[in-house]
Amino acid sequence: MFGKRNSETLIVGAGPIGMMTALALAQNGVRANIIDKANRTCARSNALVLNPASLEAFNRLGIVDRIIDNSFRVDEIVFYDDSQVRETVKLKDLDIAFPFLAIVPQSSLEDLLESELKREGVSILWNHRATHIKHMINGIELEVDKLVERSIGYAVAHSEKLVDKTISFQTKLMLVADGYNSLLRDRLGIEATSVGQTSQHALFDIETDAYPDREIRISINKGLETVQYPMIGDMSRLAFQFEGMTLPSDYREKERMPVQASFEQEKLLGDRHLYELIQSRCPWNTGYINRVIWRAAAPFEIRKVKMLREGHTVLLGDAARTFAPTGMASLNQGLQEAERIADTIKNDLGKSELLLSLDRQLEEFETEWDALYHLGTHSHPLDMADPWTVANRKQLLQSLPANGETLERLASQLFIHLVIPQMVDA
Ligand SMILES: Cc1cc2nc3c(=O)[nH]c(=O)nc-3n(C[C@H](O)[C@H](O)[C@H](O)COP(=O)(O)OP(=O)(O)OC[C@H]3O[C@@H](n4cnc5c(N)ncnc54)[C@H](O)[C@@H]3O)c2cc1C
Repeated sequence: MFGKRNSETLIVGAGPIGMMTALALAQNGVRANIIDKANRTCARSNALVLNPASLEAFNRLGIVDRIIDNSFRVDEIVFYDDSQVRETVKLKDLDIAFPFLAIVPQSSLEDLLESELKREGVSILWNHRATHIKHMINGIELEVDKLVERSIGYAVAHSEKLVDKTISFQTKLMLVADGYNSLLRDRLGIEATSVGQTSQHALFDIETDAYPDREIRISINKGLETVQYPMIGDMSRLAFQFEGMTLPSDYREKERMPVQASFEQEKLLGDRHLYELIQSRCPWNTGYINRVIWRAAAPFEIRKVKMLREGHTVLLGDAARTFAPTGMASLNQGLQEAERIADTIKNDLGKSELLLSLDRQLEEFETEWDALYHLGTHSHPLDMADPWTVANRKQLLQSLPANGETLERLASQLFIHLVIPQMVDA
């Protein structure tokens, strides 16, 4: 052991949720250390839709304009069956502060959050990998490997990471936001259990000559979703849910390299399959594809942990729970929860009631997640509802990028009465 660092609050993971927590804390005068095992923010668009409540959260942090400037604004969600439009849900009709969605690649969002953190005087400690946790009476001791990169190879240059030194971080409160394949969740012995069906999706970010409309298109055909999200520039994301192949969870690791070296699963992600998927699954015109900018496939398991706090450690973001991908709830709930948890910490840090307040807050989150997991059961179709909509209502509701009252109001445009117990619009 060569180094020691102390802080009142330590955040593990500088993904969007860890960074949002650090930013909300910093703006409230609480300086947290934030570490990440990677050497930089993610290089890909991964989750890319910010919903109205997330935009409100960014507004409170004073950065909504910068986000909107870097985004593509979407006003409507159009649902198709295999051949025609069945429903249109209009955000622009809602009387709310931000009646639209902002489509921002996750890489841009992360870069923006990092630059805001810098402005607040918080530097992310990149190349710091958390390895072991030791519980103490008044806090946590975390063992962290400081990594260095060493270039290797001649024909194809690449690098490997070596441990430069091991540092002990001592902290009163540790917020674990180390993502879907959370190592610290495993170290804490906290199990994540499945609360829904895992789905697999192939994603293609494309550049086309079709001018993107201000709408997200979603087709539901034989239970499988196909989605087109317009993006800034002439780009858009095509996402195809598929069956018949189970992807390992390391497909969810975030990419940092600007270029993907090889296309595994050529059969799934190759050009030929993309054109077949467009022909058979897109009931709209995708235009002529000039180039495919990025391809990926990922499994989306819907799950939550059995316990959100263990001593002085709290799990946040994908480390704590995940949702179905199309509605982008994993990202949006996480961002809004980050702001709320930071608020609780600001109020009670250093006080004996902090852990109790955190538990109350985490209980609220769980109630909201359960509501999102069970949208089908909380929904009551009205007589005017289209039979196709009624039959597919669980999928339709889960793919609406909204929460709280906004989600209820969007559901009412489908003539579905949604009764969500104790939901809070952040
Ligand atoms: C290919 C892909 C496509 C996706 N598409 C969608 C989608 O369509 N819809 C949707 O809702 N969501 C999607 N997601 C998920 C979305 O990106 C996440 O919900 C979001 O990033 C969650 O943020 P987070 O901060 O909790 O975790 P992450 O963004 O995963 O961040 C975790 C951070 O922790 C760091 N870390 C991990 N282990 C350690 C350690 N031991 N020590 C230090 N640091 C560590 C990682 O380097 C990472 O930066 C996708 C993800 C991927 C990878």
